[in-house]
Amino acid sequence: MSIAEIRDRIATAARAVGRDPAGVTLIAVSKQQPLARVEAILSEGHRVFGENRVQEAAGKWPEFRARFDAVRLHLIGPLQTNKARQAMELADAIHSVDRPRLAATIARIAQETGHCPELFVQVNTGEEPQKAGVLPAEADGFVATCRGMDLPLAGLMCIPPVEEEPSLHFALLRKIAERNGLAGLSMGMSEDFETAVRLGATHVRVGSAIFGARPAPAG
Ligand SMILES: *Cc1c(COP(=O)(O)O)cnc(C)c1O
Repeated sequence: MSIAEIRDRIATAARAVGRDPAGVTLIAVSKQQPLARVEAILSEGHRVFGENRVQEAAGKWPEFRARFDAVRLHLIGPLQTNKARQAMELADAIHSVDRPRLAATIARIAQETGHCPELFVQVNTGEEPQKAGVLPAEADGFVATCRGMDLPLAGLMCIPPVEEEPSLHFALLRKIAERNGLAGLSMGMSEDFETAVRLGATHVRVGSAIFGARPAPAG
């Protein structure tokens, strides 16, 4: 699908529930995609991208930023504490704040540098053991912890379990955000971004629908 087509679909979904389509940011998830494909999307004028690994982002985005102005990079994958500094240098937003030690490290670096990306707290709405994110029951407490560290929280993020109805997870995330006074909702991917927009997503993370299937990892 072209970026224009995805934008149209987002706009249709937003208007269906009386929302302004401008309130939805389309993050083009470029992880593992050939650089030529990413460059083509940049050349079409799109500027908001997502990566899930710090190392991979560091390998491509400084150069793209030098060639294309106003790029906004969102880091959407799990973040190791020892990569926080590099992540904060590279990204305009981090969607995977999910534990006190990481939050404390980000807060310390932010104080030292005077700079902090927009932050989203990842919530493990499906309570999947292998998945990152705070449990729904711990979300309010963790949001308070982050606020106590003066972290600039933009909102919440979730990745629903693959085999479940995503709308239940999107609705849960929205409820947690509302009761915590958070405006940002990072939810919805290639298969379900329209559902997410209808349920209030402010950021959708769309990869394969834009770029095509990711190449299978080597090995
Ligand atoms: C890869 C990824 C996406 C995009 O997934 P698609 O199904 O390709 O749209 C969205 N969010 C996160 C956190 C991802 O890692």
